[in-house]
Amino acid sequence: MLGRYEAVIGIEVHCQLRTASKMFCGCSPAYDGPAPNTHVCPVCLGLPGALPVINKRAVELVLATGAAIGATTPEATRWDRKNYFYPDLPKGYQISQYDLPLASAGSLTFDTSAGPFTVNITRAHLEEDTAKLVHAPGPDGARISLVDFNRSGAPLMEIVTEPDVRTAEQARRYAEELQLLLRTIGASDADMERGQMRVEANVSLRARGRDPVGARVEVQNMNPFRSVERAVAFEIERQAAIIDGGEPLAMETRGWSDERGETYRMRAKETSDDYRYFPEPDLPPLRVDEAWRLEIAAALPELPAARRARYRDAHGLTPYDAAVLVADADAAALFEATLAADATLEAKPVANWVTGEYLRLRNAAAEPVELDPGELAVLVRLVADGAISRGTGKEVLQLHLETDDPIAAIIEARGLRQISDTDALARIVDDVIAANPAAVEDVRAGKGQAIGFLVGQVMKATRGQANAAVAQAALRARLESQEGRT
Ligand SMILES: [Zn+2]
Repeated sequence: MLGRYEAVIGIEVHCQLRTASKMFCGCSPAYDGPAPNTHVCPVCLGLPGALPVINKRAVELVLATGAAIGATTPEATRWDRKNYFYPDLPKGYQISQYDLPLASAGSLTFDTSAGPFTVNITRAHLEEDTAKLVHAPGPDGARISLVDFNRSGAPLMEIVTEPDVRTAEQARRYAEELQLLLRTIGASDADMERGQMRVEANVSLRARGRDPVGARVEVQNMNPFRSVERAVAFEIERQAAIIDGGEPLAMETRGWSDERGETYRMRAKETSDDYRYFPEPDLPPLRVDEAWRLEIAAALPELPAARRARYRDAHGLTPYDAAVLVADADAAALFEATLAADATLEAKPVANWVTGEYLRLRNAAAEPVELDPGELAVLVRLVADGAISRGTGKEVLQLHLETDDPIAAIIEARGLRQISDTDALARIVDDVIAANPAAVEDVRAGKGQAIGFLVGQVMKATRGQANAAVAQAALRARLESQEGRT
């Protein structure tokens, strides 16, 4: 399929903004947990005569997102009514933004297995979420649909890309990078499992470099992240097979079944004509003061792409290590704080301990893991200096997290300090040489692997505390000096 067709993919993401109240009323937007229909009022229930009031924080979070993706913002924008009829929409319309979004013409660049890739972002606008339909068996066992209005009116940001995406991997990586960006700037918790971030892809195919040959198909319900890649890959293959078979391709909205590993038809796709947009009469136009916009842009934290570049350029990390650290806020914070605790440490071993042992232990732990950066700095220093081996370091780190005892105290109390001093090893080296004449002969006869056996005997005699490299050097030096005498 890759040879004949090219996929043309645009991505729409809806994310719940991190605000204390809903978009147009004072109700809590927390819908994941509270009892159904407990966070409601006349505004978000759509009762006649109730008037909306704009949530300033929600506007700020969209402006912050716009600044982070390099988008432009009009001096004045407005709200529009998007009309459609569905039981989860009590007013019969949704307040949204149609032709004057708060942010337009931005972009997002991220790494893929084929190198960096940039997706142009058409727009980011603000709207209100719908209520939630719950399909469940009723008292008599028949299936009924219940409506939970806790989600009704929660602030939503919709972010729409240009049809720039060509592969399933790019689609997944875009969604991952956008999630990281939204979390970094505090715009959204963007948890896909909790419905705080919903990803849809518009997929069509064309002969390479030509106009589209198939209809545009929207794929929804792609959750979790890996299913974004699976669903888009499946849809590309499905459409190619239909076009090859000479069948017409329907313009439709399809869902993704993660269990079956396939997309399925949900409904015919609506067009914007169907929504009969018109300006919202209950809200005034929204002015975006230049000073306000600049203040929001200036308050942005370091963005993920800039942080990855700094880890590569200033700390000499590999692109992979930089990406792993930046993708995890706790890991990045620990990495920086550890380097700050001991400025003489090299960044690479600190990054290795954070992305390796720390993440492994944290991800396996049932409880939150708090690792003091000062303690990690002590550990990295001791391993770098050869005072303890890397293997011992891993054990000590685990003991430290279990007992909260200082790293240095654990090493002293358990006598774990590595013997790196050649003089301290001299007697043991002599004993090992005297006790293993056959292995000594092998080494002298040029059998390289025999030295490993002798090093192993030194490690055994020191209960693993010898520095293996120092032990090997001491053994070779001793054997050479004995040879010189005979
Ligand atoms: Zn309300």
